[in-house]
Amino acid sequence: DRILDEGKQQHEEHLEMSLRPEYLNQYIGQQTLKNNLNVFIEAARIREEALDHVILHGPPGLGKTTLSNIIANELGVNIRTTSGPAIERAGDLAAILSSLEMGDVLFIDEIHRLPRAVEEILYSAMEDFFLDVVIGKGEEARSIRIDLPPFTLVGATTRFGSLSAPLRDRFGVQLRLEYYDIDSLVTIVNRTADIFEVAIDDDSAMELARRSRGTPRIANRLLRRVRDFSIVKKEPSITLETTNHALKVLEVDPSGLDPIDHKIMNTILNTYGGGPVGLETVAVSIGEEVVTLLDVYEPYLIQQGFLERTPRGRKATAKSYDYFNGKSQMDIFR
Ligand code: ADP
Repeated sequence: DRILDEGKQQHEEHLEMSLRPEYLNQYIGQQTLKNNLNVFIEAARIREEALDHVILHGPPGLGKTTLSNIIANELGVNIRTTSGPAIERAGDLAAILSSLEMGDVLFIDEIHRLPRAVEEILYSAMEDFFLDVVIGKGEEARSIRIDLPPFTLVGATTRFGSLSAPLRDRFGVQLRLEYYDIDSLVTIVNRTADIFEVAIDDDSAMELARRSRGTPRIANRLLRRVRDFSIVKKEPSITLETTNHALKVLEVDPSGLDPIDHKIMNTILNTYGGGPVGLETVAVSIGEEVVTLLDVYEPYLIQQGFLERTPRGRKATAKSYDYFNGKSQMDIFR
């Protein structure tokens, strides 16, 4: 099963890569961020210097990895890609850093998960482009200094708040990705449909955009599934009827919420009288990981105005009483 899952995951990752815009002008939405980034890239190009270090933060699937590749493309430099949990020891980082060439981009995904010891040697690399590496042990131990070419670190994180202050402060460019508006998502759905060479009605594109939780990755994934239903029905173009049917089968409700969102809200509303209740308590009640709730579910429920964060815990809003009232979590999907 695990091997099958891995195969499936690789397939999805491959599809995702084929969908990635390569240059800033192909990157849809996030207008303010794009305007700012454009100026910084342009200035670095004119000065013929490495771009200042960039931190990209925001929920999963909003386009952080895509942007890191775009930054390298726009600068015309190479990119090396790794992730916080993949760099276990200081030596791993030293090896990656010393393979960089002048101006290159090093992308570290999930940078909030870097081990402490690794993070500490990153400071001097970021600030003054050198590494202090300790070789040998005990009395024999000595520290050698390795000079690095100026490079650009692009870090991505779903949790800006968990970065230590010294790391956070070393990023000269801090960019926050927002959930996408419906118009941008419609454009993304149509672009992906083009790449897949599948026709889609305007109504269907709009419906998919509405139910994608403001997230391009989800829009693309839902489109792929809806396309399957449409192919089986031998439709010349994806219709709204098929879209609605597929989304129902996929258990995506009219606001884009899934059964886990419903479980979270029902637990808070019904088991805990609307809150406030700790997120850990909710996680235990529904058998999900706290980090999943923190990174994936909570930000969207808050953005949609269903949930509130208070000093004493999570609270349901008046809007959530209206939306979830009287509906048991699964009724909505029947
Ligand atoms: P993250 O790194 O934030 O989790 P990704 O960069 O992997 O997100 O993006 C997820 C998917 O969404 C990719 O397939 C990418 O092509 C698509 N995508 C993200 N942002 C955009 C955008 N602004 N325009 C078009 N497609 C996008």
